[in-house]
Amino acid sequence: MNVTHLECANCHKIHEANVLQNLCLECGKPLLVRYDLEKAAQTLTKESLKTREATLWRYAEVLPVESPGNVVCLGEGWTPLFKADKTAAALPVKLNLYIKDESTNPTQSFKARGMTAAVSMAKELGVKKVAAPSAGNAAGALAAYASRAGMETFLFMPKDTPRANIIECEQTGANVTLVDGLITDCGRIVAERKDAEGWFDVSTLKEPYRVEGKKTMGYELAEQFDWTLPDVILYPTGGGTGLIGMWKAFDEMEKMGWIDSKRPRMVSVQAIGCAPIVKAFHEGERFADEFPNAHTAASGLRVPKAIGDFLILDALRESNGTAIAVSDEQLIAAVKEIGASEGIFCAPEGAACLPALRTMIEQDLVKENETVVLFNTGAGVKYLECFE
Ligand SMILES: *Cc1c(COP(=O)(O)O)cnc(C)c1O
Ligand SMILES: [Zn+2]
Repeated sequence: MNVTHLECANCHKIHEANVLQNLCLECGKPLLVRYDLEKAAQTLTKESLKTREATLWRYAEVLPVESPGNVVCLGEGWTPLFKADKTAAALPVKLNLYIKDESTNPTQSFKARGMTAAVSMAKELGVKKVAAPSAGNAAGALAAYASRAGMETFLFMPKDTPRANIIECEQTGANVTLVDGLITDCGRIVAERKDAEGWFDVSTLKEPYRVEGKKTMGYELAEQFDWTLPDVILYPTGGGTGLIGMWKAFDEMEKMGWIDSKRPRMVSVQAIGCAPIVKAFHEGERFADEFPNAHTAASGLRVPKAIGDFLILDALRESNGTAIAVSDEQLIAAVKEIGASEGIFCAPEGAACLPALRTMIEQDLVKENETVVLFNTGAGVKYLECFE
């Protein structure tokens, strides 16, 4: 539609947009989609949004699909933004606290946003077989969208992936292989076999489009806050796709004249047992080392090495944000705290944002009356093992 080219996020080499691409052919880092935003802004206006469909495809002009017939949609996006007054009242500082509730997406997590875009583009570019490593929700979303698109799906998941994720993939038609290892081991298997098998690799940030689907969280926040942005966004970070995507969305919106240059402070929340971004942030590194012996009940955060690490770290630093690790005890306790006060049964990853906010308050990193958004990225009901 309005896509002009793909650009390497690291070395800025230009790549063609209308062919299948994975990583930068020059340096092996992620590619980002670039648009003719002037053209996009001619039809995508704040006014036009008032009558558009309640899915993320309401932002079609800044999404990559050329032909609307290729859009594979299950009703994703345009999720509710809830005021969380009772949770806020239990904090030592008075805040305007909100929860962006991504558990209402198809397949019960925000992975649906990425997969609707990735699978739609794969369909447009003629893909028949897709493959991915996943520690949970990405697999469920990929299986659903690929089946709907008529593609075959090959998934590699760690043995200790929550059972709900494994079962949903089998029931939505995917070929599932359980691996005795971490998501990084699963990723290696996909990388080794994909050429011989004819699979298109849909791993986080190893294709350019999942981040495009996830950036719509940034557009939605701006629209739901009537074109102002919150002061702080806490985001449970695994591969970082959503954080990188929102940061990109803010930039696009500013270029289209929708918002000014003020940005939220972006905060990466990780688990103490797997905190590569937190470590790299506080040590001043631009890239994060692989985190040894990664373990946490919040399976979406069990990503010991993220290929977009430098993009996450850049956004945290440019926004004057930070990175915080919380314990598994804290994040599991927060599920019940939020559930009992707000009626939202959060994924453990999403609940982790609340103890991280408490740490920010202790360290004087949030001021009274600021507007703070916690991202609940998935549904607690998929993690029954955590509550036994
Ligand atoms: C995948 C996942 C995350 C991490 O998302 P990234 O964008 O990869 O950082 C967080 N929460 C849940 C529930 C997830 O499934
Ligand atoms: Zn490059």
